[in-house]
Amino acid sequence: MSTVSIQHYINGRISDGVSGRTQPVNNPATGEVTGQVALASAADVDGAVAAAAAAFPAWADTPPIRRARVLFKFLELLNANKDALAEAITREHGKVFTDAQGEVARGIDIVEFACGIPQLLKGDYTEQVSSGIDNWTMRQPLGVVAGITPFNFPAMVPMWMFPVAIATGNSFILKPSPLDPSASLMIADLLKQAGLPDGVFNVVQGDKESVEALIDHPEVRALSFVGSTPIANLIYERGARHGKRVQALGGAKNHMVVMPDANFDKAVDALIGAAYGSAGERCMAISVAVLVGDVGDELVPRLAERARALKVKDGMQLDAEMGPIVTRQAHERITGYIAKGVEERAELVVDGREFDTSATGEGCADGFWMGGTLFDHVTPEMTIYREEIFGPVLVCVRVPDVATAIDLINAHEFGNGVSCFTESGSVAREFGRRIQVGMVGINVPIPVPMAWHGFGGWKRSLFGDTHAYGEEGVRFYTKQKSIMQRWSDSIDAGAEFAMPTHK
Ligand code: NAD
Repeated sequence: MSTVSIQHYINGRISDGVSGRTQPVNNPATGEVTGQVALASAADVDGAVAAAAAAFPAWADTPPIRRARVLFKFLELLNANKDALAEAITREHGKVFTDAQGEVARGIDIVEFACGIPQLLKGDYTEQVSSGIDNWTMRQPLGVVAGITPFNFPAMVPMWMFPVAIATGNSFILKPSPLDPSASLMIADLLKQAGLPDGVFNVVQGDKESVEALIDHPEVRALSFVGSTPIANLIYERGARHGKRVQALGGAKNHMVVMPDANFDKAVDALIGAAYGSAGERCMAISVAVLVGDVGDELVPRLAERARALKVKDGMQLDAEMGPIVTRQAHERITGYIAKGVEERAELVVDGREFDTSATGEGCADGFWMGGTLFDHVTPEMTIYREEIFGPVLVCVRVPDVATAIDLINAHEFGNGVSCFTESGSVAREFGRRIQVGMVGINVPIPVPMAWHGFGGWKRSLFGDTHAYGEEGVRFYTKQKSIMQRWSDSIDAGAEFAMPTHK
C-alpha cells in the first residue's frame, strides 16, 4: 500500500509547513504504515495564527445569519460525505465502521445546533433602567481560538468545538491527534466548499511542540482541549498563566452500578457494549461495574460468556463489534495493566491477551489485536481500579449496598460519566442527586448529552468552568459586553459626583 502525506491546512490551502518533521500513521487493523503526518514547528503555528488573525475581523463582522448559512451548507456537505469520513476514521483509528458512522452523526448534531446561532446570540435588553437610559448586553467573539483534540474521536471532538467557535464569529485553529489526522483535512475541505472564508478554519498537525506554541502565542485567546488528565492539567495551568480562557477535558473511569432490582438482560447488554465498544477507547466507556448485593454471582458468568464471544475483527467488516487497539504502544500499555491486575490479585475471569487473531480479517495478522478482558473481585486500592486503562478491560467491584456504591464513586479522582441500572425511582433519584459526576445515566450506560445540553465531567475530568458545546460552548467562545445608552434630549442631571442611582 502506498503512503500519503498528511499536511497542514492554512489559509484555505494545504501547506507543507517548514518543520520537516513527520510521524508515521498506521492502520491498526493491519499494522501497516499508511501515511506520514507533518509535525508543526512554532514557525508553522505562527503562520496559521497569522492567517486566522487576518481572517478574524471580517468574519466577526459577518452577520450571524450569514455565518449560519455557511454552516447550513457545511451540514449538507457533511451529510453527503459522512460515510467517506467514517471510513477514514476506521482506517486510522480502528473503531468499527458503524461506530465511526455514529461518531460522525453525533458531530453533525453540534453543527445543527450551531446553525441556530442567530437565536443563541440574541442579547438581553432593558428599556429605561433609569430615566432616559437603556442597558443591554451582547456577546462578542474572542478572536483566534484553538482546539487540541484526542485520537479517539477524530471527527466528533473537533465538532464539539469549531462549529460553535466559528458560528460565534471566531477564527479557529485545530490541532488534531497525529494518530488519526486525515479526518481533519476532509473537514477543512468541506468547510471551504461550504463557502467559509480562507483563514477562518485552519489545521496544524503536530505534537507537543505545536501545542506549546499555540498555548504561548499571544494572539490565541482561548484553548479548548480534550485528552488525558495529565495533559489537560498542564494545558489549563500554562494557558491560565498567560491569562487565557481554557476548557480542558481530561480522562475518566466511568462506573456503572447494577442494583439487585435491575433488568439483568439490559444491564448485561449495556455493560458489554459500553465496556468493549470502540475497544474501550472512549472517555465515556464503562470501565468499572459496581455490582450491588449478590448481583455479581449472576452477572459475572453472563458477562464472561459475552466477553469471550465478542466479534473482534477489522472494523470495515460490517459484523465487527470491536476493532483493534489504536497503536502498538497502547496495546502494550493495556496488556501491562492486565498483568498488574493479576499481580495485585484481582480475579482474571477473561484474559483478552489470549485472543486468537485468525478471524480478524485478511492481512490483519500484524494488527494491534486483543480480546475483551474481565476482572472480578477488584478492590479500590488496586491500580486497575484507580487508573484509566483506556482499553477493552472491564473490572467488577462488589459492594453491599447503594450507599457504598455512591461513596466509592464519589471518592474516585475522575468524575466524567456514571450510570445506574435500577427499577426503583427513589434509588435513581437519590443516585442522581448524590453522585459527584458530571454526566449521569439512569438505565443509560453512556449518557453523552445532546448537542444543546453541553458535555463535561467533574473533578479531574475537566479543568475550567464551562462544558463543551451547547450554550456553555457559546459562552466559552464569546465575551459579554454591557452597553448603557442615553441620548442628549433625555433628562440631563448635570455633573454627578455620587454613585448614580435610578431616577
Ligand atoms: P492525549 O492526552 O495523549 O492527547 C490529546 C492531545 O494532546 C493530542 O492532540 C496530542 O497530540 C496532544 N498532546 C499529547 N501529549 C502532549 C504534551 N505532552 N503536551 C502537549 N500536548 C500533548 O490523549 P489521547 O491518547 O489522544 O486521547 C485519549 C485520552 O483522552 C483519554 O484519557 C480519554 O479519557 C481522553 N478523552 C477525554 C474526553 C472527555 O470529554 N473528557 C473525550 C475524549 C477523550
